[in-house]
Amino acid sequence: MPQVSRTRFAPSPTGRLHLGNVRTALFNFLLARASGGDFLLRIEDTDAERSDPAAERLILEDLRWLGLEWDEGPVAGGRSGPYRQSERAAVYGEYAQRLIESGQAYPCWRTDAELKAFRRARMAAGRPPVYDRQWAQLPEEEIRRRAAAGQAPVLRFRTPETGRLEFDDSIRGPQVFGLAEIGDFVIRRSDGTPSFFFSNALDDALMEMTDVLRGEDHLSNTPRQILLLKALDLPVPRYGHLPLLMGEQGAPLSKRRGSAGMAEFRDAGLLPEAVTNYATRLGHALESVEQMDFGGLAAHFCLGKIGKAPARYDPIQLEHWQSLAVQAASDARIAEWAGEAAFDQVPAELRQRFLDWVRPNVHRPADVAGWAAILFGSGPEFTPEIEAELAATGPAFFRAALEGLAAGEHSLAAISGAVKASVGAKGRALFRPLRLALTGAEAGPELAPMLELLPEETVRVRLARWA
Ligand code: GLU
Repeated sequence: MPQVSRTRFAPSPTGRLHLGNVRTALFNFLLARASGGDFLLRIEDTDAERSDPAAERLILEDLRWLGLEWDEGPVAGGRSGPYRQSERAAVYGEYAQRLIESGQAYPCWRTDAELKAFRRARMAAGRPPVYDRQWAQLPEEEIRRRAAAGQAPVLRFRTPETGRLEFDDSIRGPQVFGLAEIGDFVIRRSDGTPSFFFSNALDDALMEMTDVLRGEDHLSNTPRQILLLKALDLPVPRYGHLPLLMGEQGAPLSKRRGSAGMAEFRDAGLLPEAVTNYATRLGHALESVEQMDFGGLAAHFCLGKIGKAPARYDPIQLEHWQSLAVQAASDARIAEWAGEAAFDQVPAELRQRFLDWVRPNVHRPADVAGWAAILFGSGPEFTPEIEAELAATGPAFFRAALEGLAAGEHSLAAISGAVKASVGAKGRALFRPLRLALTGAEAGPELAPMLELLPEETVRVRLARWA
């Protein structure tokens, strides 16, 4: 019986999600789904200055749009709530108190300026700037003086001075950290808010996470978090650190840079299943090249298939998945996606055939309206290059095409057969000028069904222009 994974996504509400965050959420979601476990959403908003309720709303909206519904979390509720860290101050207070009482945490009155000077001096002496615990026992009188002056202490965790901390990363394998390099770290800031290490680790334990998948940038936090959980005698989840996702330019994606953000993806008309199918394959080897729903993706998801090298965002790959998603979507969905106005110029009786014809060649909602306009609206537009090319093709070609149209039934076979017989054109030299004259475009949906959609008079006028 495989273990049931209970996982979470824990964004800080400081901006819109980008593809890297989405991949993290998705992998946690799939890991839970694969074993029938629950997926939680936790909002890490302890930094009041940077956290923004509007960003939280948009994160929820983006996750819902992607279909990454959470079993527990904001709005959904659940047995481990509240799921917003700003509402969990009492929990952090209680566990911080436990650490103080057991002597594993202590208030530290050093000011930022003093700390900076201390670090500078250590570095100058060629020693690592690890906290020296010198102020763990400040004289009572000095504490009173500082408190009276309005200073508040931070709370530091007492890290063992020697030894090693080892853990088995579920993606990267065995990891070893020397405790001497970690030093006593802050678990509560002077404003009373918990540090990331503390609230994040504590919540994972209290919310009973079995697995934590997160970005590689958190790897160096993990030893501190494991130390804290052990000190509190709380269960330690299995941590796995995902290799970074690089942008097109080779720099890591970031919320602030706004690259590959869900806002842009949605505005551009990407379909959520294109994004999720692409993201599941980012740094995760999946043999299947088919589009799958979450059930299929979860069945194929495996931690052992996640690579250790950075993955790179490739918009061309994403376009490929978008194309598959457009193929697979229902007619009603594509109609909604394209917008009703896209069909305004399409004769009602041709609507279904038009949709079937155009679908393999559209990537964006506007493409549908674009093809409707070419066929039934304003018609083709020609660049000077294409005009020159059509002129160079010569009137004989188009006169033969018109004769074929007049003689035969209104079909590509009749037109192309006449041109072939008359001017000897074949292959590309036969079909490219026809496509250009009829659509103004070098590529697009298939020609033969297009001729069935276009009224004969329209075809005649478009060919006659070059004859
Ligand atoms: N709030 C953290 C972040 O957005 C969560 C990291 C984690 O998943 O543990 O990076």
